Amino acid sequence: MSKSPRLASQGLSHQDVLARMRAMRTEDARWQEGRTWSLVYNAGEDIRRVAAEAYTEFMSENGLSPLAFPSLRRFEAEVLAIAAELFHGPTAAGTMTSGGTESILMAVKTARDFARAERGISEPELVLPASVHPAFQKAAHYFGVKPINVPVGPDFRADVAAMRAAVGPRTVLVVGSAPSYPHGVMDPISELAAMAQEKGVLFHVDACLGGFLLPFAKRLGHGIPDFDFTVPGVTSLSADLHKYGYAAKGASIVLYRTPELRRHQFFTYAGWSGGIYASPSMAGTRPGGAIAAAWAILKYLGEEGYLRLARTVLDTSKALREGISAVPGLKLLGKPSLSIFAFTSDTLDIYALGDAMEARGWKLDRQMMPPALHLMVTPAHAAVVEPFLADLRACAASLASGEPAPDGSAAMYGMLGALPDPKDAEGFILQFMDGLYDVSEQE
Ligand SMILES: *Cc1c(COP(=O)(O)O)cnc(C)c1O
Repeated sequence: MSKSPRLASQGLSHQDVLARMRAMRTEDARWQEGRTWSLVYNAGEDIRRVAAEAYTEFMSENGLSPLAFPSLRRFEAEVLAIAAELFHGPTAAGTMTSGGTESILMAVKTARDFARAERGISEPELVLPASVHPAFQKAAHYFGVKPINVPVGPDFRADVAAMRAAVGPRTVLVVGSAPSYPHGVMDPISELAAMAQEKGVLFHVDACLGGFLLPFAKRLGHGIPDFDFTVPGVTSLSADLHKYGYAAKGASIVLYRTPELRRHQFFTYAGWSGGIYASPSMAGTRPGGAIAAAWAILKYLGEEGYLRLARTVLDTSKALREGISAVPGLKLLGKPSLSIFAFTSDTLDIYALGDAMEARGWKLDRQMMPPALHLMVTPAHAAVVEPFLADLRACAASLASGEPAPDGSAAMYGMLGALPDPKDAEGFILQFMDGLYDVSEQE
């Protein structure tokens, strides 16, 4: 069989290119119908279109040079000013980034460089609750910082006493989540920040998930504890615009209490024949579209829009939590009160339940330690509460009656979960990734 070259000698028409792409997405997650419970924060078609138009309008512009594109500089400055106000940081300074992971990478690098410059620390350590997002492990790995992972309490929240015990002379940063991704619970931010301050260490709030939901939940009367720069000892904060900010993918912010702290994030190089090089974050070229779309959505929604969407998300989450808790055999993990939560079972194989739901078109993330299924609720899910719960009741009842679940990922998760050390799973996962990113099988 002779292979045609990968890059065809002749290009296709505009229409053909798009037709081929649309044909390729038929098996993609059906987020438009509210059947996917992670990855896409769907707030409706009008919002998506504003973001799409703003994005394409500024798609070619490059945020690496704010001098060449004063429009992008202004969008970014206004996005940051809005965030600083929302998070009560009158002196706060930050940058936009490509996402939560980059915001977190920057916060860890900044803390490392600050500690090196101000405290002479050469073997930095990072103190993390075990529930914190893996981006912190990634940052530790990339930047040569040793992560100290501290088990969370029985309520899945950071354990302040255990965190305190983990802070040592080399600690450069302590972290708490508002809320955590796996269980959607708020870490005790005030207590953790006070402890860090007492020890003379920086403290980061990971509000990647909750950042653009919590301030509005609070205004709607939900009992939201202080989690931002109002809290003494909080020195930096990350919040994702491409989650509950409903912006296009590729938009997050990282904020520091002062511009002096932010300085440790910046990179400059004046020794290059190509001229003076200055870059605020990880990326070199920075996509103008993501910055423009984030600005556009903040302007389009305004406070009223975010309050309306927050109300929908919180009401929908409550209905789902109550519905799930009422299914015999199912129970929530911890006491989640926001828009994200996990549930498990003492009587049913929870992964088999995940497979049974998947066979009915519902994509739920699987969690480990303990095994659980996970929901991230968006405005689009308001329309599917009843059908979802009906299917969940039916699937749980069928499993309880001894009927086997359809084939899915239960066997793999069961196998991974049975490994005594999560490190043992890493070789298996690497092999899986080699396969995922193998191009040799493509046409
Ligand atoms: C999503 C998330 C992150 C990482 O953000 P990405 O945009 O996926 O890189 C970090 N922390 C929390 C709590 C999150 O939910």
